[in-house]
Amino acid sequence: MSSPISKSAFIKAEQCLKHFYLYKNHPYLRDSLSKEKQFIFKRGTDVGLFAQKLFPGGIDVTETEKRDSLLFAQKTSELIANGCETIYEATFIYDDLLVMVDILTKQNDQWVAYEVKSSLKITDTYVKDACFQYYVVKNCLPELFDFNLLTLNPKYVLEGDLDITKLFKTTSVLKDAVKNVNYFAHKTSVAKLTLEQSKVPDIKIGTHCFQPYDCDFLGTCWKNTNDKSSVLALGKLTKQAMFDLYDQNIKRIDEIDINTIHKKEVKIQVKAAIEQKEQIEREDISMFIQKVEAPFCSLDIEVWMPAIPYYQGTKPFQQIPFLFSMVSENEGEVQTFSYFKPIEDDLRKEFLERILFVTKDFKSILMFDKSLEETVLNQLAELFPHYRNDIELLKSKIIDLAEPIRKGYYYHPDMNGNFTLKSMAPLVNKDDGFNNLEVQSGISAMYIYESFLGLNPIEAEQKKVELIEYCEMDALITYQLLDYFRMRVN
Ligand code: SF4
Repeated sequence: MSSPISKSAFIKAEQCLKHFYLYKNHPYLRDSLSKEKQFIFKRGTDVGLFAQKLFPGGIDVTETEKRDSLLFAQKTSELIANGCETIYEATFIYDDLLVMVDILTKQNDQWVAYEVKSSLKITDTYVKDACFQYYVVKNCLPELFDFNLLTLNPKYVLEGDLDITKLFKTTSVLKDAVKNVNYFAHKTSVAKLTLEQSKVPDIKIGTHCFQPYDCDFLGTCWKNTNDKSSVLALGKLTKQAMFDLYDQNIKRIDEIDINTIHKKEVKIQVKAAIEQKEQIEREDISMFIQKVEAPFCSLDIEVWMPAIPYYQGTKPFQQIPFLFSMVSENEGEVQTFSYFKPIEDDLRKEFLERILFVTKDFKSILMFDKSLEETVLNQLAELFPHYRNDIELLKSKIIDLAEPIRKGYYYHPDMNGNFTLKSMAPLVNKDDGFNNLEVQSGISAMYIYESFLGLNPIEAEQKKVELIEYCEMDALITYQLLDYFRMRVN
């Protein structure tokens, strides 16, 4: 066998043997990693490094010039033999399977392993990962006494100095791991057999392409189905329901018998595909937009959700607002206003006061999907009860323009099964909308903000401009969406 099967490869084999085979033999076919995924991986690494502080003084086996897993494994066994009591990224190879354990430490003369997850919850996939690691480590290190997952404690509140012992929650997976030893032995032989076949397994696309993670080879397997007329591009349907149609040989949206569809949001997509034109329920849209009272503005808020609480009184992954943009009109001219909170200081009070001040004279406040904004405002009301009434007043003025879209009052074939502001942007904003922006999503915005902690002032200023451009575009398209609806009903 060329190189050992890593935990990542094994997880892919669990998802789909074709995924596993392509990953091992044709890695160049992998889809490029999105910025969002890169950010998520980086956060995982950062939290893993932070958790090492729970067991200080260890040796990281990956701190070598060469990235070579065989060397890491050799170094791990040398460290164990030489009496080292804490090892980071401890590497083990058994039966051509390779795992790297975040932390391996000796407690009361017994080896205990910890795998760190940058998450508040334990999922079945995490448990399976950890059980697989246990299987390999136990076979290399029979003295392994326990295997734990370290996750972030949702109840932890930063008060004073950060208490790392309370920040992380420890959960043993030993029982599951011991129970599943035979399962992994069996699955390993299936995976090895797949590689020996020397041909790509004949596996059709299905719901498994997204479970537990989006496959890395969607670009390869889905290339013939990935057009907007495919039933697999339908929005507001479960993946299972889509594949039920697909497996009945209904491949295109316009082949669906519209009478068999009950959900209005799906029906409208089928009708748009058959008639090849936008679908609009004029009366409903008209009634909805009549709720907007002048003067009005649109508003968008961006949040940061640090895994490790940064400000006093906050919890892991708490939503911290850091930027808002407002768009309004004055004597026929569109105006924007943005407020950006520097990361170093907890200026949530100032943020709140600014937002209340700049919106107070408007009778309606347009948003697109108000759920995040409402959550942020509710949290600010808890934190600053003095402003509760003002916040309630602001909330009462919100008109959520996502509502008519969500309810299926409007759909355009160019929305391609998406009901997001981004899918509406090319229809509403002919000047390219989000296309030319550096920041492309709220998730990217959040991670870019987080990166401010390590940026020099010049880089930070540049990133700040990019974040503001993104937030302003969001607010601008929301603002223009109202006009777009008005033109369609008049
Ligand atoms: S896209 Fe689907 S079928 Fe293709 S390798 Fe991935 S999981 Fe398997």
